[in-house]
Amino acid sequence: MLEMNTIVYDCIVIGAGLAGLITARDLKRAGLEVLVLEARDRIGGRMVGEYLPSGQWIDKGGQWVGPTQDRFLALVDEYGIRRFTSPSEGKKVLFFGGKRYEFDGFFQGFHEGEAPGVRGEEWNDALEAWQRFEALCSTLPPGPPYANRDLDNRTFAQWIEENTVTAFARWYFAYMCRAVGYLGPAEPHEVSLLHVLRGHKSASQAEHPEAQLLHGGAGQIPGKIAAELGGIIRVGEPVVRVSQESESLTVQTLKGSYQGKFAVVAMTPHLAGKIIYEPPMPPHRQQLTQRVPMGCCAKILVSYDRPFWREKGFAGIGLGNCQTLELCADSSDPETGVGVIATFVVGDRYQGWRPLPDDARRLAVLSDLSLFFGESALSPSTYHEVDWPAEEWTGGGYAAFMPPGVWTRYGTSLNAPVGRIHWAGTEMADRWAGFFDGAVRTGEAVAEKIKNLL
Ligand SMILES: Cc1cc2nc3c(=O)[nH]c(=O)nc-3n(C[C@H](O)[C@H](O)[C@H](O)COP(=O)(O)OP(=O)(O)OC[C@H]3O[C@@H](n4cnc5c(N)ncnc54)[C@H](O)[C@@H]3O)c2cc1C
Repeated sequence: MLEMNTIVYDCIVIGAGLAGLITARDLKRAGLEVLVLEARDRIGGRMVGEYLPSGQWIDKGGQWVGPTQDRFLALVDEYGIRRFTSPSEGKKVLFFGGKRYEFDGFFQGFHEGEAPGVRGEEWNDALEAWQRFEALCSTLPPGPPYANRDLDNRTFAQWIEENTVTAFARWYFAYMCRAVGYLGPAEPHEVSLLHVLRGHKSASQAEHPEAQLLHGGAGQIPGKIAAELGGIIRVGEPVVRVSQESESLTVQTLKGSYQGKFAVVAMTPHLAGKIIYEPPMPPHRQQLTQRVPMGCCAKILVSYDRPFWREKGFAGIGLGNCQTLELCADSSDPETGVGVIATFVVGDRYQGWRPLPDDARRLAVLSDLSLFFGESALSPSTYHEVDWPAEEWTGGGYAAFMPPGVWTRYGTSLNAPVGRIHWAGTEMADRWAGFFDGAVRTGEAVAEKIKNLL
């Protein structure tokens, strides 16, 4: 039997990820009546953690924060969560084309410090292409990229093909496409060149978004916001229908029906598109939500009794075109003494790895880690796989991306309210889309809009 509620809420927030929780928090602080409806039996969405028996935390979704992510940093500081510098002392390892290089620099969408030992012509090819990429990026006007159809009609793969000649440079840009937060991750042939350029402009790796980690992990934050919200969150209630009337709207879940003056749908565009709306969404919005896929990524957290790689002078950062992995990073909290490596299986690599039996998947990951850090990597204390594409209420990760043609044809519908329904979620952010910071920004902005409407 469906539960019928007689309260008319000022706003019903649909989705208790970071964006929805921030929306609800800001509205509640303004003294408004708010209800939050969450499909999963937990809150947090892509912000979720766990404590290991060793006392070390792991973040199964996002974990890093950077110095210019000021809205997320303000939240972290407000809750008194302490940060620490992401461990990076020591030699990084690049494994490319079957060869292993140790170096001191850093590159991921840009480069700093010592070059990895690849041949000069390969490295120069990558750097020169990088300069052309930056120059093209600087031609974009500020704000969402609704205009440039020429750039939007092309894939990033086409740009890579036209701008690089060596296998290393080609891999470098394709790797960037699979590694950085605003790109899904996508394979280069899947994503609009305009989306890549826009992402680099509004969420650049040069701003070091992975500079810091949080003691206790990012996964503790949803609980802290919920504690402030009290009993206004209902979990295990997927919203299936939102019906708008002239003065109010009705939000229906599998368990009940709720009345509100406004609703904020705080989730990825493709999941927002699964809800039934009455009246139906305008055609432009319906077309949009069919065209914004989630990136394809499994996150793997491997813990060891200590960060053994440091004893050999390694930073715990490995990258390269290995069979299963392209990137891994030391995520050990210095206060626990436990060693943790976070790594990802993404894009086409995920497609080949996912159907393997459990043992073979684990061995594939650990074998690649051993290429970076030696045989000790084969004997972890714990091993966790988080299969984001298998998560019904996310459908992939890190975030959604725009295939060719979508920004310039349908982009204006991403954020535009439809009657009493407004949108939030990291994908809607003008700055740091795909990151925690973007989620906070959209939550704050939509709460401000609703306050002004009431
Ligand atoms: C593996 C991975 C690594 C990442 N790494 C980083 C990082 O290091 N740093 C960083 O800043 N960001 C990172 N991110 C991205 C970051 O986690 C997200 O940007 C952010 O958490 C998104 O929050 P959100 O509220 O916009 O969306 P979500 O977290 O997706 O929240 C949406 C919520 O809506 C709910 N929902 C969906 N459909 C319905 C429905 N019909 N009814 C009710 N509820 C519904 C979902 O269950 C979910 O709780 C990473 C993400 C992943 C997956």
